[in-house]
Amino acid sequence: MPANYNELHQVLLEQRQHLLSQLNTIAHTVREDGVGYSNHMADVGTEVFEQARDVSLSRQLKRSLESVEHALRKFDDGTYGICELCGAIIELARLEALPSAQYCMECQSRREGTR
Ligand SMILES: [Zn+2]
Repeated sequence: MPANYNELHQVLLEQRQHLLSQLNTIAHTVREDGVGYSNHMADVGTEVFEQARDVSLSRQLKRSLESVEHALRKFDDGTYGICELCGAIIELARLEALPSAQYCMECQSRREGTR
């Protein structure tokens, strides 16, 4: 395994830590039922807006966390850096830009093109 992969592994671990702490912070403000109530009617609009924003942010963070954890699992499997679609080795520059990349450049653009 090239030395750079070790660095990428480190980066992914740090990203996971960071995402987890962000999710933790949000978890204190977001309730399961989504909208909380306020004693001050005037504040409700703002509160609902803030919670909606937090919910979508937390969804986004969870998705990022999933892909980071997925990438970390690939380290365990020894498949890190290999495109999940065509099996090609993902360019190091791409991995450095996006350590949790699942696909090579070609497959990624093909996927985006079909969307
Ligand atoms: Zn590919």
